[in-house]
Amino acid sequence: MSLDHDDSLLPVSHKGALLQTDNLYQYILETSVYPTEPECLKELRELTYKLPWGVMLTPPEEAQFLSMLVKLMNVKNAMEIGVFTGHSLLATALALPHDGKILALDTNREYYELGLPIIQKAGVAHKIDFREGPALPVIDQMLQDGKYHGTLDFIFVDADKHNYINYHKRLIELVKVGGVIGYDNTLWGGSVAAPPDAPMKKHLREYRDVFLELNKVLAVDPRIEICQLPIGDGITLCRRIT
Ligand code: SAM
Ligand code: CA
Repeated sequence: MSLDHDDSLLPVSHKGALLQTDNLYQYILETSVYPTEPECLKELRELTYKLPWGVMLTPPEEAQFLSMLVKLMNVKNAMEIGVFTGHSLLATALALPHDGKILALDTNREYYELGLPIIQKAGVAHKIDFREGPALPVIDQMLQDGKYHGTLDFIFVDADKHNYINYHKRLIELVKVGGVIGYDNTLWGGSVAAPPDAPMKKHLREYRDVFLELNKVLAVDPRIEICQLPIGDGITLCRRIT
């Protein structure tokens, strides 16, 4: 029997199809994301890409994923840490029910105000409680208050990367059992799998170790089950189980 065409003997690659080529990424955007992208998200995305720090925006396929997740989970109470101009915030707010709420934290109000007119026009500003300032003290205050323990259905973390572990220590108390915390950028431009001495851009080098540590910590935390998705720059979903 010839084994020439027996696929079971070929080396198996588990590399996600999503990451193979730029063309494939473009195909996904053009086939499955842009045709149904709400006009307000498109407007905010285009406005944001023109800004000097436009690359920080949550990419459109990830915004679509967050929207789907929020709907599938029937999220009512959400939190976002790291708003920028509000692209992921708007995607989440649109997906929340009319009486849903999202607490949005960012040290910078100016960027949020660039996106705010679009958010208002979309009719979801009433769901958003934006607070300017570092997120950790706000979270600590919520923990001290006591009444927020186990109240949040979904938390999206996309801010100061070196504090992700500090956020995790606290957010695990605020998210409800069965709720989800999503940590963004956990593949950090692919640097997490690069050899330590590989040439890489300064910002990748700077936080590579932070994500290596975070990914290890999340993987062994018995209070959560995780799923790390190669969407955008990588998002790790942590579902609280105890
Ligand atoms: N989620 C946003 C989007 O969809 O466009 C992108 C967020 S951007 C990558 C990171 C944001 O985190 C910036 O707007 C920055 O001002 C904010 N940030 C940085 N340090 C922070 C802190 N300690 N607390 C709250 N926000 C912070
Ligand atoms: Ca991000």
